[in-house]
Amino acid sequence: MTSVQTPDGLPAAKATTVADALGRPLHDLRISLLDQCNLRCPYCMPESEFHSDYEFLRKQQRLTYDEIIQVVRVATGLGVGKIRLTGGEPLLDKNIAELIGRLTDLPLVKDLAMTTNGMLLATAAPKLAKAGLHRVTVSLDSLDDGVFSHMSGGRGDVSKVLAGIRAAEDAGLDPIKINVVVQRGVNDHTIIDLLEYFRGTGHIVRLIEFMDVGNRNGWRMDQVMPSRKVLELVEQRWPLQAMDKNYTGEVARRYKYVDGEGEIGFISSVTEPFCGNCSRARLSADGMLYTCLFATHGTDLREPLRNGADDNELRDILSQIWLQRADRYSELRQPDLAEAHILRKVEMYRIGG
Ligand code: SF4
Repeated sequence: MTSVQTPDGLPAAKATTVADALGRPLHDLRISLLDQCNLRCPYCMPESEFHSDYEFLRKQQRLTYDEIIQVVRVATGLGVGKIRLTGGEPLLDKNIAELIGRLTDLPLVKDLAMTTNGMLLATAAPKLAKAGLHRVTVSLDSLDDGVFSHMSGGRGDVSKVLAGIRAAEDAGLDPIKINVVVQRGVNDHTIIDLLEYFRGTGHIVRLIEFMDVGNRNGWRMDQVMPSRKVLELVEQRWPLQAMDKNYTGEVARRYKYVDGEGEIGFISSVTEPFCGNCSRARLSADGMLYTCLFATHGTDLREPLRNGADDNELRDILSQIWLQRADRYSELRQPDLAEAHILRKVEMYRIGG
């Protein structure tokens, strides 16, 4: 095994893999480019708190592209193959194509994806594809204008998001996944229409259980619509057949329409937790590394980076973090405690879900 990269930038021959305290490899790195967003989804960034005077991270507080590239270079040397760019809303970063281009130059980045709310995707899609982005996931909780407006803090526009999805398809950024957070009594009555719209398009709708992420969404268990209930609802309309996972650690349970009109998925962190194979780490825009979506603390990488840490020093830091990792929040979640919102968890907008 050679070190991650030689000082003169020669690509590492191959990665070493590092396993956490539960034997899980480090495979996915989600990178939040900025903490700002152009929507105000109440379950993530409520307008009441993230108003016009709210102070988001300043540029110098955010990791530079050089710093992000160094973290990714080292992380891929430790087994990371999948990079997902997130936010806030990553497309608010005007130079994102430059970063994408540099990430695709790293030999061990096998899968480069982005999660976006789609509002800016229609114009951005061609340059993202040209820069080398492989695929996109679009968050779209409903096709009903009123419901979507409510779930996006009055700022979302369904037609803009759909135009973004078409542009991403035209640019070849597919298969496109559509993430739908299902909230009982909020958008569950509009799921069938959304599925109907995407049937036969090749796009994959993933129905996500409402989670107690962060500290601001007032999560209660009775707002969760268990995936098995959603599955029953869908099967009343279209017969489905279970499919195998694409890879170990994939979060979605996959189903295909028996009539051949495509695939959907269920992400059931609350009722069917999947911590056992969780191989994801999350990097915030200001350089904090978190080892769980529901983490209460992270590790600051910005300081060692700005103190001139080289690849091997950073590799030791990352290895230590992962080797000690034992997160399995969803498996241990006690709904009554979660409803009490006692734990001060990292906010979702800071790590992009
Ligand atoms: S709760 Fe944490 S450990 Fe479990 S699957 Fe989610 S991110 Fe992974």
